[in-house]
Amino acid sequence: MPGPILRIAIPSPLRRLFDYLPPSRAAAAFVPGQRFLVPFGRSRQVGVLVALAEHSEVPAERLKPALRQLDAEPLFDEALLSLLRWACDYYHHPPGEVFTAALPVLLRQEREARARGIELWRLTAAGHALEPDALRRAPKQQHLFHLLGEYAEGVDAVRLDADTQNWRPVMKRLVEKGWVEVEERPCLAAPEQFAAETPPPLNAAQQQAVAAIGEHLDGFHALLLEGVTGSGKTEVYLQAIDKVLAAGRQVLVLVPEIGLTPQLLERFRRRFPQPIALLHSGLNDTERHCAWAMAREGLAPIVIGTRSAVFTPLPNPGLIIVDEEHDPSFKQQDGFRYSGRDAAVVRAQRHGIPIVLGTATPSLESLHNALQGRYAHLSLPERAGMAVHPSIHLLDVRRQPMEEGIAEPLQKGMRKHLDAGGQVLLFLNRRGYAPTLLCHDCGWVSHCQRCDAHMTYYARSGQIRCHHCGAERPVPPQCPDCGSLDLRPVGQGTERIEQALKRLFPGIGVVRIDRDSTRRKGAMDALLAEVHSGEGRILIGTQMLAKGHHFPNVTLVGILDADQGLFSVDFRAGERMAQLIVQVAGRAGRADKPGTVVIQTHVPDHPLLRLLVEQDYAHFARAALKEREEAQLPPYSHLALLRAEAVDKLAPLAFLEEARQEAEGLPHEGIWLLGPVPAPMERRAGRNRAQLLLQAESRQALHRLLNQWAPALEGLKSGRKARWSLDVDPGELF
Ligand code: ADP
Ligand code: ZN
Ligand code: ZN
Repeated sequence: MPGPILRIAIPSPLRRLFDYLPPSRAAAAFVPGQRFLVPFGRSRQVGVLVALAEHSEVPAERLKPALRQLDAEPLFDEALLSLLRWACDYYHHPPGEVFTAALPVLLRQEREARARGIELWRLTAAGHALEPDALRRAPKQQHLFHLLGEYAEGVDAVRLDADTQNWRPVMKRLVEKGWVEVEERPCLAAPEQFAAETPPPLNAAQQQAVAAIGEHLDGFHALLLEGVTGSGKTEVYLQAIDKVLAAGRQVLVLVPEIGLTPQLLERFRRRFPQPIALLHSGLNDTERHCAWAMAREGLAPIVIGTRSAVFTPLPNPGLIIVDEEHDPSFKQQDGFRYSGRDAAVVRAQRHGIPIVLGTATPSLESLHNALQGRYAHLSLPERAGMAVHPSIHLLDVRRQPMEEGIAEPLQKGMRKHLDAGGQVLLFLNRRGYAPTLLCHDCGWVSHCQRCDAHMTYYARSGQIRCHHCGAERPVPPQCPDCGSLDLRPVGQGTERIEQALKRLFPGIGVVRIDRDSTRRKGAMDALLAEVHSGEGRILIGTQMLAKGHHFPNVTLVGILDADQGLFSVDFRAGERMAQLIVQVAGRAGRADKPGTVVIQTHVPDHPLLRLLVEQDYAHFARAALKEREEAQLPPYSHLALLRAEAVDKLAPLAFLEEARQEAEGLPHEGIWLLGPVPAPMERRAGRNRAQLLLQAESRQALHRLLNQWAPALEGLKSGRKARWSLDVDPGELF
């Protein structure tokens, strides 16, 4: 009798599953979603069983048995498996990598799926009393002993693994001697004392939204919830979640990369006594595994996480919320390039549950879906509570005297608001001191040697750094070409503005918030505290300021350079800039203080910019959609981008040329093949880059082609000389 064939997803660049015979001893019936340890080439791999088959196309003598069944229970249920299969098909990505992305790192190894909680080792009182050199004769014990001495709060297995091989037996000796104790702390706990805060009564629009979400929890329906910052979206989420929890179901909340602020978490904690599983990039492997397991076992009714949390198993989901759905960080930019937001919509479909996409500034894709009637569209027009909308003005800076990028009228405005006791927020999406260093004598500029880009000048650390490949060097003492000492920074970055502000506003606290100033752990919190205490009165920052944080005392917002987004090669740049402007503006004028927003521009007559300022984002977005329609750009067409890069200059184009010919040999009616062409930034990190864009009116037609094309690309010889990737619905065309 032909035994069942296990069809397994294994991390590999190949777009296929791998067939195995069952292991000699099975712990439980085979169910898709279980992990298996299998021989793979010369190594062993952990893979996920995706399907069972009667027959294999692999000749019987070449089929190998799996080594071991790792899970008795499947890790993914049918709906989640179906989502993962969709992701493999839709993104045309190798299934092994897709399934691996859905697993916490620890479960990509032969670990138990259940999490035990987090073990912490620390010194006992007897341990602390021990003479420092008492363990001289047992150097391994002494080493661990000293390590534990450095961490009063305890050390977890991840840190110990990183520090010492095979530390467990040594630690066991220390525990037996009574010098070390181990605590097993559950990775999530409900708060010990809990006095639920009373939710505020909802306004009419909020009520309507909560009712629409909870209308039927047993059917897929998608809702675009549009409301400016402060209009009460989060309150809508909280009250909708309350209903879902009361029905005994779980809720998944997806937030952008830096949207998961302590303030947001605090609001959830004040409202719900239930444990909350957090899944974000700041976790170590143990913590992540633990939160994942709590979600999977249903012990965490609320799961909040960034992009990849969309793949968290939930035994009993009732609602998915995507907050700030327009945020580009929902799209993964390397490897498995999925959109967490789009996957969330598909997931809600597969489970048959509602999904809410919330934002002040809908992506044009979601807005299009709403206007087409595919999503319900609800707006929260008013600010909840008493606050007034900020008033927005364009400041024409042509021929204006500027001081380091700040025009005089804006400086005057700043003085006025500061004198009145307000705070001021300035937004510039460019970090560093200046984007370029230039020799005034010969025209040398600080090019990166590995990228087609300038290196950013950092005055304080005396370095030039490339933001694209990470290269950094000390500032040359003199021009490398002509020896001149007259090297000048050109253009403004946040560091330079910060210095200028200290000069222009002596005695006034300036706080800079960008990726550089917040790199150290805890730095962000310290800077925010400075702002909230009122010690810092002028804030200058990048898009990190656009999300999550509220600055109730900010009465003036200055957007220093709106033109960046208007003249980019990327068709999404205008949408992105408008979203940033609105988001940043939304930081101001909360509570009872109305805010003023000033946007500096050289093109005050730009029609889209005017719409944004004189009307609002909704008008801007509809006009921008019209432009997209005329240009046949997404969402009115569908894109896939084939990228290739190699150290060799010709290899990427050679591969893409062959790829194009391959596509031309397949049915490709209704699909434009654009390119291959060099990438907008042709050289990056020492590699030459090129791309081929596929544009199609119909999504079906595009995917019909990709279905045949993607596997064919794997067979192209020229593909071995270049690193290539396929990006479906690319976020940016770089
Ligand atoms: P958003 O998520 O859209 O920025 P929030 O839900 O955070 O808006 O609401 C903004 C502020 O208004 C919060 O302090 C919130 O507690 C308060 N708020 C929201 N809804 C109401 C309401 N119906 N009545 C009174 N206050 C509300
Ligand atoms: Zn020079
Ligand atoms: Zn570089």
